[in-house]
Amino acid sequence: MPQVPAAPLKRITSEALLVRSVPYGETDLVVQLLTESDGRLGAIVRGGRKSQKRVGGALEPFHTIRVELEDKGRELATLKEARLSRVRTGIATSLEALDAAGAALRWARQLCPPRTPEPAAWGTLTHLLDALDGGVAHPKVELAAAALRLLADVGYALDLDRCVGCGKPRPAGRPAYVDAARGGIVCTSCGGARRLVEAELLDVARAAQGGDGSRITQAHAAAILAIVEEAMGAHAGIEA
Ligand SMILES: [Zn+2]
Repeated sequence: MPQVPAAPLKRITSEALLVRSVPYGETDLVVQLLTESDGRLGAIVRGGRKSQKRVGGALEPFHTIRVELEDKGRELATLKEARLSRVRTGIATSLEALDAAGAALRWARQLCPPRTPEPAAWGTLTHLLDALDGGVAHPKVELAAAALRLLADVGYALDLDRCVGCGKPRPAGRPAYVDAARGGIVCTSCGGARRLVEAELLDVARAAQGGDGSRITQAHAAAILAIVEEAMGAHAGIEA
């Protein structure tokens, strides 16, 4: 009889963030992890519902955890071990920080394709979580800056310099229509969009996307987050 070769077993050891955890059957958990080395991965945690002993109570959001996985290339890898690597208990002390951290992990889950390393997104997320853990004055301002970066990190940067339809540059100092689902500015010749955005906000968001979020005020943050939510919604279909 011909032998069917066994799928190669890959062992993954990586830092990771827990982005989702759902009960599976009587005793198991299915988790979504954003790993530093291999990107987003689904994994089964055998016995994870009954006992957290083997995973050391590490399966909580917002902390960086060190995971060991066995991966046969199937939909779900198997989590063998998890331990806390960078604890961020400070986040839970502020409701606004908790909300911001929760939104960031949800976006990571939606934006990061499975089994694709996303080192820039990993850096943006851990940087944000560290800042939230440290007790920043305005979590939403941090979140807005990180959200623009996150879109850029995974290749969905908003084009705030020119029309996504015809490529016409945005005239400096003028407001412009932004259709986040289409990826940025849409000029009036190309049909415009529902959302008209002031030049100042476009400049601030443009700088933040390039890594300089220092000009974002609380008022900017609310407007940026509304635009970002629209963009995230347009890219949310990839969650596996
Ligand atoms: Zn145009």
